[in-house]
Amino acid sequence: MKYLLLFVVVFIFAWHWRNTRRADIAKRARKVHPSPKPSADPMDMVQCAHCHVHLGQAESVQGRNGQYCSPEHRALTES
Ligand SMILES: [Zn+2]
Repeated sequence: MKYLLLFVVVFIFAWHWRNTRRADIAKRARKVHPSPKPSADPMDMVQCAHCHVHLGQAESVQGRNGQYCSPEHRALTES
């Protein structure tokens, strides 16, 4: 009976230690890799009229026939 009580105490201690350790690891992982916050202003995506690659509108080059990924593709398409 004495050993059973000792076993139960050890088991509870080990179980508590494992749970605390797991929560600590999860907390540390969140600190190292914080979940990305949603951007306040999502960027509009446009497609290059020449190569059809998607890029942010701010990075695109405006042409007569639409948006382009680079001045080279604008020149190739509109020349
Ligand atoms: Zn392109």
